[in-house]
Amino acid sequence: MSTHSEDHIYVVGAGHAGGELAFALRQQGYAGPLTIIGEEGHLPYQRPPLSKAFLKGECETPSLYLRQQAAYDKANIGLLLSRRVERLDRAGKKLIFDDGREVTYSKLALATGGRARRMTINDAARAERTRNFHYLRNIDDVLAIRSRFEAGQRLVIVGGGYIGLEVAASAIARDLNVTVLEALPRVLARVTAPQMSAFYEQIHRNAGVDVRTNVEVIGLDFDAEGDAVTAVHCTGGVVIPADAVVVGIGLLPNTELAQAAGLDVDNGIVVNEHAATSDPDIVAAGDCTNHPSVFCGRRIRLESVPNAVEQARVAAAYLAGKPRTYDSVPWFWSDQYDLKLQMTGLSQGYDQFVLRGSMQNKSFAAFYLKEGRLIACDAVNRAQEFMIAKRMVAACKPFDPVALADETVPLKTLAPPLQAAAPPA
Ligand SMILES: Cc1cc2nc3c(=O)[nH]c(=O)nc-3n(C[C@H](O)[C@H](O)[C@H](O)COP(=O)(O)OP(=O)(O)OC[C@H]3O[C@@H](n4cnc5c(N)ncnc54)[C@H](O)[C@@H]3O)c2cc1C
Repeated sequence: MSTHSEDHIYVVGAGHAGGELAFALRQQGYAGPLTIIGEEGHLPYQRPPLSKAFLKGECETPSLYLRQQAAYDKANIGLLLSRRVERLDRAGKKLIFDDGREVTYSKLALATGGRARRMTINDAARAERTRNFHYLRNIDDVLAIRSRFEAGQRLVIVGGGYIGLEVAASAIARDLNVTVLEALPRVLARVTAPQMSAFYEQIHRNAGVDVRTNVEVIGLDFDAEGDAVTAVHCTGGVVIPADAVVVGIGLLPNTELAQAAGLDVDNGIVVNEHAATSDPDIVAAGDCTNHPSVFCGRRIRLESVPNAVEQARVAAAYLAGKPRTYDSVPWFWSDQYDLKLQMTGLSQGYDQFVLRGSMQNKSFAAFYLKEGRLIACDAVNRAQEFMIAKRMVAACKPFDPVALADETVPLKTLAPPLQAAAPPA
């Protein structure tokens, strides 16, 4: 790729996608000026340990960094950290920072991720000013939560999604008294089958978590100084005393910068299969994008590391003038207690659930079929079968449910050969 003196590619967002995108640009041959801008004060880092090992205090901040400073120096990638881009002027090709300074870009990548969805109850704004009410999205959030992680403390977690449940498992490992409040009739309701929800609810109850479903938070109590939340009020007149509250009720994509600049936005920055936005000089990648999924046959927005990494590489290829299509099958993982859950595909709309293995033995694969076609698999403590299931889901074809459930039939004998596993045209 040729470079001119006025070339300067900026990446807004120093997260998983932003970090990966910059290095991928170098790998694709872009040798010109390249800078990542991030509002956090950290080098690009991985977030999954935030609700797992890092929350338990088993690792420290530098181990979260995707690469150390020396790698950026070596690749000649500039970092502008603790700097927030406030405005994007597409006509002038300028980024305007919170301190009023500005830079000019030749090409731009938006990797702005998302932020924790806030509670909407009346007391929420007041709670955010206390010392023991937390959302969980970044390192600073977790350092604050960790300071409350003392044995015997009463932790109330609002939200029974993956993050809420991972926080529960981490808190149990540190001997806290944990309550999980879920507004829907079951945990993980939006992402998995009732059988999986029941399995995870039982696992958490066995570990000592008080899991309550069908309960909505309607208010909070505060101490006399207003410094701390002391109890959580729920529908049904239930009041749960709390020494700390962690809220994990979803993510809002950071799309404001793009939207104000007139880029297409619809539950994420709208990109095409090459990760290009409605402005051909601007790409976007990661949690902030709404992209066409070849596999799902519709537009989706994903919140996962594999999506951030793989879409970032596609975006870099486009900027480097070597466009390729983003056609990965979604996948994700979650670690809770001694359970390694790995998921591939998207199970929404399934009409058949097939279990292989034993939930009681905590080793199984759950297959989701729609009109006979395999659309997703959740595997618990079955890493090898998960790798095969990924290929099977990617093949987008029907599989015999009886054979899927039969452990005497090795899964690999059902899977398509490696080279044949391709998404539909
Ligand atoms: C607690 C937790 C656990 C998770 N566990 C898993 C897991 O087990 N497996 C998995 O696959 N995924 C997991 N995820 C999701 C995964 O971490 C995200 O999908 C991934 O981080 C997305 O990367 P990203 O770069 O798109 O966004 P982010 O990581 O959110 O990075 C975006 C960055 O851009 C910055 N930014 C935004 N706007 C601006 C601006 N205007 N100016 C400057 N900077 C800006 C943000 O501050 C942020 O640092 C987890 C997430 C969390 C929070």
